[in-house]
Amino acid sequence: MKKNISAVFICLLLFLNPSHLEVYGSALEETDLSQVLLEEAELLQALLEEAELSQALLGEAELSENITSKEETKPTYYLAKGQAAENTFPDPSKPMIALTFDDGPGKYTPQILDLLKRYDVRASFCVVGYMIESHRDIIEKSAENGNEIIGHSWSHTNLTKLSRSQIKDEIVDTNSLIESVTGSCPNFYRPPFGDVNDNVRKVSEELGAVILYWSVDTRDWQSKDAQKVSEIILSEVKDGSVILCHDLYASTYEAMRTVIPELIERGYQFVTVSELINFNRGTAEAGKLYYGTQ
Ligand SMILES: [Zn+2]
Repeated sequence: MKKNISAVFICLLLFLNPSHLEVYGSALEETDLSQVLLEEAELLQALLEEAELSQALLGEAELSENITSKEETKPTYYLAKGQAAENTFPDPSKPMIALTFDDGPGKYTPQILDLLKRYDVRASFCVVGYMIESHRDIIEKSAENGNEIIGHSWSHTNLTKLSRSQIKDEIVDTNSLIESVTGSCPNFYRPPFGDVNDNVRKVSEELGAVILYWSVDTRDWQSKDAQKVSEIILSEVKDGSVILCHDLYASTYEAMRTVIPELIERGYQFVTVSELINFNRGTAEAGKLYYGTQ
């Protein structure tokens, strides 16, 4: 493309060269003046059109180079097994939230998964390590539907009561099993009861793990009341919220039947925890607590 432009400029320079003007001058004496001027104008027009075309093509090439380089620098998003990257990118014009379900897989996980799929939305499931093997198929299906699977320790023990090496085992064993089922090792984990101390932070930092908290606590385990759970979510939700629920109760499933269509109606898009943080901050820092992006 640059060669074409150079050729055009060389042609223009030759065209404007004084010796050429002399030739044209003698030609004017021998031929009809208007004919020469017409041919000259046509030639100049053709050269200008070629130059404009070259410039336009150069512009397109530069534009496509920019698009390519933007794609190359795009952050890596959590990808559920078999999912294409472009399908995971949230719409920047819409508010986004991350629904999270702890302590499963449980009795109501399959129904919640069906509900999420029906509304074409996704959530993050914080699973307990020792329950993974016996619920492999549910976790696999969940990840295939685009949900994110995050560890919630191996034994649901209060991590602050454990030694550093025990904390490490709780996180690593759970993450390894999640990876063997879903094909993705989680960046986040959620400590049981939200209990964290210096040992937990230090081990998380060493492992490169981000500690997942929440910004909307439904307390669904306490009330077991669908209406109360719905009210808490619908009154507290904001752009960037991480909502804490448990996929263990019928009331939580019932609340989701109200909350999901209502939040869609309000314009929210449902993203995974990784999508929420990647979109809003680019990276999450290991060992730090993450509450959402409001
Ligand atoms: Zn829990």
